Amino acid sequence: MEIKLLENILNERLQPDQIVSDEGLLDSFSLDETGVYHARPGLVVYPLNIEDISFVLSNCNRLKIPLTPRGAGTGLSGNSVSVPGGVLMIMDKMNQVISFDEESGIIRIMPGMIVDLLKSYVRERGWYYPVDPASSGTSLIGGHVNTNAAGPHSFKYGSTKQYVNALTLVMADGTIIHTGNHVEKSSTGYNLTQLICGSEGTLAVVGEISLKLVRPPITEGTVLISFASYEDGLNAILALRKSGVNISAIEWMERAAIEIVAGYEDNLSIELEPDCACHLLIDLEAKGNEDLEEEMIRIGELLDPMPSLNILVSDSEQSRQKLWRIRKLIGVAVRHHSIYREVDTVVPVSMLVRLIEIVKEVGNKYNFRSICYGHAANGNIHVNILRENKDDTEWNKILREGIEEIFKKVIELGGVLSGEHGIGLLNRPFMHLQFSEPELTIMKGIKAVFDPNHILNPDKVIP
Ligand SMILES: Cc1cc2nc3c(=O)[nH]c(=O)nc-3n(C[C@H](O)[C@H](O)[C@H](O)COP(=O)(O)OP(=O)(O)OC[C@H]3O[C@@H](n4cnc5c(N)ncnc54)[C@H](O)[C@@H]3O)c2cc1C
Repeated sequence: MEIKLLENILNERLQPDQIVSDEGLLDSFSLDETGVYHARPGLVVYPLNIEDISFVLSNCNRLKIPLTPRGAGTGLSGNSVSVPGGVLMIMDKMNQVISFDEESGIIRIMPGMIVDLLKSYVRERGWYYPVDPASSGTSLIGGHVNTNAAGPHSFKYGSTKQYVNALTLVMADGTIIHTGNHVEKSSTGYNLTQLICGSEGTLAVVGEISLKLVRPPITEGTVLISFASYEDGLNAILALRKSGVNISAIEWMERAAIEIVAGYEDNLSIELEPDCACHLLIDLEAKGNEDLEEEMIRIGELLDPMPSLNILVSDSEQSRQKLWRIRKLIGVAVRHHSIYREVDTVVPVSMLVRLIEIVKEVGNKYNFRSICYGHAANGNIHVNILRENKDDTEWNKILREGIEEIFKKVIELGGVLSGEHGIGLLNRPFMHLQFSEPELTIMKGIKAVFDPNHILNPDKVIP
């Protein structure tokens, strides 16, 4: 009933194409990319500006109707799935550049801009936005801010939060506030901008984002190196990190990850040697071709005393993209192969070998196969646990006990529950493994200050 009342009120301000209330259509908004949680919203709204967001939120707050903000729904932790019967606010119509100070490299944008469009917009004007998850062809900058999204090049460039210097927020009661500033230094009060980064739509709706950009790399090259054991590949990362070579990304892929891509797409640009256990895919940056060649030679020299098998070097942008395509297809190929559960583990880089041993030991104990790959230079490995032919009982045991066992060990190694995908609904049951009661109480207190009626993306993140 309340949702019908809300719809009538919203109709006073919003255009018909900004509201979806048809039950058949609402079904298609029930999932995010996690694919696990199914909840049909009672209403979908598309704001066109900050005033729309404020109008919708103030009315939701008054009627105590939960609202979940959503970007492109590519999240991998169930964090943009609506509360059943609640409001889903989709930001993709707010997709404009507001202003771009080309002198200082500061861009103000709306939260619904597709990240690849943002990247090419600034690149055409001589600037670089480096955050590059494989989803960036569809994911939106507001989603990136709220998950603190990262990607392969976060090794050199860090994650989204490093670039966010100011935000316009709409609070749960509809109040509009501004956080942050455009100066180079600030020691002025609590850093609310950074608090919002990674808050998964639980504290406020982001209505405007200001990003500080960097200069683009001049020349880039890619190297793919194979190793006969996990240890060899993962230990090489430690040496590469210390080498002083201008490396922007190091991705680790176990053999099974490449095999699964080979099963998904014909004509891969590499052949798997019989004794290869894993690969490192490395991006280098340089001041020009000569410099790049020297960097490649330094990588070769560095790896010479190490037990690597084969080195493949890109000789053109096209061959670089072919090598990266293998890495980018792993997620899609896994999904195509089987139902799976992704665990977004992060540990100190020196603990990576132990992490993979643990994952495989837990896999043996619970009888599952896992595909491990990811942003290893940051200690971040995506563990894809495959369901394959498991029945419901076996699968649910893995989801509850197997994953809890992995998380407990990750935390013992000094790691955390998620490196970039967030907590959402998926990892919320494990938050007590990471945080003590006093720590969770502080988080609950922050939530209560921002959202006293608990209407903003409730039941996510905090247990
Ligand atoms: C194939 C694939 C590869 C991926 N690779 C990576 C990767 O390498 N690195 C990585 O970090 N992620 C990766 N992801 C996960 C995902 O793309 C990121 O989490 C991304 O940031 C989500 O953006 P989105 O626009 O889809 O947001 P959504 O999934 O719609 O939302 C994500 C969260 O942000 C909140 N939100 C969205 N917009 C707003 C707003 N304006 N105000 C307040 N809250 C908001 C939502 O409530 C939700 O909590 C991948 C996903 C896929 C499918």
